[in-house]
Amino acid sequence: MKHTASVTLVCSLVLLFSLFRFSDANTESGSNVKPVEVLTAIRAGKLKVIDCSYTYFEGMPGIKLPPPLANTKTFEITNVSRYDERGPAWYWNWFSVGEHAGTHVDAPNHWISGRDNPGVDRIDLGELIVPAAVIDVRGKVASNQDYEVTREDILEWEKMNGKVPEDCLVVMKSGWGSRWPDPVKFLGIDAHGQPHGPGFGESAAEFLLKQRKIAGLAVDTVSTEAMALAGGKKPIPFPVHYMVHGAKKYQIEMLANTDSLPATGALLIVAPVKVQNGSGAPARIYALVGS
Ligand code: MN
Repeated sequence: MKHTASVTLVCSLVLLFSLFRFSDANTESGSNVKPVEVLTAIRAGKLKVIDCSYTYFEGMPGIKLPPPLANTKTFEITNVSRYDERGPAWYWNWFSVGEHAGTHVDAPNHWISGRDNPGVDRIDLGELIVPAAVIDVRGKVASNQDYEVTREDILEWEKMNGKVPEDCLVVMKSGWGSRWPDPVKFLGIDAHGQPHGPGFGESAAEFLLKQRKIAGLAVDTVSTEAMALAGGKKPIPFPVHYMVHGAKKYQIEMLANTDSLPATGALLIVAPVKVQNGSGAPARIYALVGS
């Protein structure tokens, strides 16, 4: 029974993946891949859908850079009408939000090393429907809030799970989500006002970009690199952003519910708002996981 379920799961994932990746080819060749089979697997409980995005609300945690650097608005919402004289039968709002607020994508043009790279509206869809390789560093982060994922952590993961698959998203699972939605805790603000949080170190980023072929990096913290350390690095500050975007790859920050993601086997569907030449955008992200 268990075997049948896992075969079904694998088939469903393969179907879903090929459906999205090769939809044009399928149309031309008349392939009989049926999208509804994925839905059937979800409704039968063979595939779980995990919400990997945080809810936007005023006062939510958002990155704050020190002066003299400029800052982004996080999220503000204004009511237009609510079944009242301003609009008797309808409720609606408008909101403003930073490209890098909440669960969001960093586009390949976000960093100076990738200034001519595609904006968030031009990231290939085939890279936004992506398997996840999830690196669990919760134990290390529990004793060091500035922990940086190393090349050795990736090699350790590979011993258990095999080589990091091609075109996957490498996800840091740090346990940081337990701090949501408290802004002081989520930003790791210390007594001196300095933010903290774990991220990828440059050895891991360099290894994944040069020795493996990845779609990008994702973290459950505010930044893909350790907030208290990355800005002071020499010769290049924020080396992970510099390397990832220089390699035309994207990142995801503030990914929610990473605790529910297995080391392998999750398929992420990443849907950033399509802002013309945006440096990033809020994203609704779902993970499909075998149950
Ligand atoms: Mn960002």
